[in-house]
Amino acid sequence: MFKPQPLTIAKVFDTFRAIAKESGKDSQDKKRNHIKGLLVAATDCEPQYLVRLLQSKMRIGLAEKTVLVALGQAAIYSEMNQNPQSQTQSDLEEAAKIIKQVYSVLPIYDKIVPELLRVGVWKLPEACNFSLGVPVGPMLAKPTKAVSEILDKFQGMEFTCEYKYDGERAQIHYMEDGSVEIYSRNAERNTGKYPDVVSSVSRFKKPAVKSFVLDCEIVAYDREKQRILPFQILSTRARKGVILSDIKVAVCTFAFDILYINGQPLLQEQLKVRREQLYGSFDEVPGVFQFATAITSDDLEEIQKFLDTAVNTSCEGLIIKTLDKDATYEPSKRSNNWLKLKKDYMESIGDSLDLVPIAAFHGRGKRTGVYGSFLLACYDEYNEEYQSICNIGTGFSESQLEERSTSLRNKIIPKPKPYYRFSDTMDPDVWFEPSEVWEVKAADLSISPVHRAANGIVDPNKGISLRFPRLLHVRDDKSPEEATTSEQVAEMYRAQKIIHTNNKDEDDDD
Ligand code: ATP
Repeated sequence: MFKPQPLTIAKVFDTFRAIAKESGKDSQDKKRNHIKGLLVAATDCEPQYLVRLLQSKMRIGLAEKTVLVALGQAAIYSEMNQNPQSQTQSDLEEAAKIIKQVYSVLPIYDKIVPELLRVGVWKLPEACNFSLGVPVGPMLAKPTKAVSEILDKFQGMEFTCEYKYDGERAQIHYMEDGSVEIYSRNAERNTGKYPDVVSSVSRFKKPAVKSFVLDCEIVAYDREKQRILPFQILSTRARKGVILSDIKVAVCTFAFDILYINGQPLLQEQLKVRREQLYGSFDEVPGVFQFATAITSDDLEEIQKFLDTAVNTSCEGLIIKTLDKDATYEPSKRSNNWLKLKKDYMESIGDSLDLVPIAAFHGRGKRTGVYGSFLLACYDEYNEEYQSICNIGTGFSESQLEERSTSLRNKIIPKPKPYYRFSDTMDPDVWFEPSEVWEVKAADLSISPVHRAANGIVDPNKGISLRFPRLLHVRDDKSPEEATTSEQVAEMYRAQKIIHTNNKDEDDDD
């Protein structure tokens, strides 16, 4: 009956907050009404941006990293107003670096911005530190292909090899009031999934420990036979609202790092020191809480043997970490100081890739009625686009193909998204919304005139494609925008070239 008030940023923001906080009975309806209210008041192009915001897909070429850099630069320009001579290009870069680092340990703008205004950028790291109860992005590892490559990379440094457990990453925060929160790899609250882990804390922490943050892998575990169970068994557990007495699959928590203890952040300490704290502050409870099995050795054969035992113990391989040089905890970073070595790397390219199906071709013959092959893409963070990388038709069981076809049929779109990059010669039968992430393994990577992955990074006009790709499994824990990036594809391509060249050199020597 009345023309609604024009939308303001504050109004939209408050409504989004209200939507996020709705829960319980009728919450879907309430959320819908909030959205309706916004759309009714929206004019011109506003509905488009409201919908994109709701989908977390702004696609205006402004990624989160850009915001961090802009904040740093804004702080410098504001200082310049007071003292125009004092700033240089390197100050701008340094300020951006500081904001990124601060954000990695305290990813909350509501805390960072007021402190930035209060103390300025140079003193920001003192004002904004790691905080108990606020999850940080996990430190990640780079893939390697062979034990010999590890010895090359960590030459002259002390390092440790740990079992690489195949479960779910968990950052466990234990607060001074005795409450516990568990966060996933994506910093999402996962406490409701693991009430058994929450209740086990009092059993494994020593009495003197009043607060902590542990980095762990939670793994499905058979307590009777005392053995680790595969990831597939863990994934049968519900994602939230698990009730202690209903639990059928037991889990064991394998702790491999500690980020905070008794009021003290430990991120800046070397792993050697953090480990001493870890071993000294907790007691192992077999089958419930254990430290990651580790050895410290630089003997090629010994590491190889350790890798074999890890694999025989249902682990995926090893994670190798520097101990007392360049060994601080680097949140959200795929660090050179953590290397992963999986048994199955050795037969093909370094790591598997996580890719997004964006289109498909109808199946023929035995595959009539389902899709015969799919067009996969990696994600380019810089341009915010999906770039085609290969067609895949192998690795699927019949039932898997059926399942994937059924689920993707709901995601068909009439034409490719404007942010899909593919060759004009490519003419799939159907296009999909980016919705799933598939883990894929391939024989190698090659420069391709057809595919567009990492176009412009390794070759100015050509992309990279995968040869002989096969599906491993669907990844429920990643969203399409967390797929393997073009930069990672380019890095894998370069690494492969180096390995080939090295092998060739060795052959030549023979
Ligand atoms: P990434 O996390 O590197 O993107 P991903 O999710 O496919 O890749 P993997 O390549 O399998 O995971 O390896 C990294 C993961 O291994 C870590 O995120 C962690 O969950 C798990 N992990 C198991 N054991 C360890 C360990 N001892 N130290 C560190 N991480 C471990």
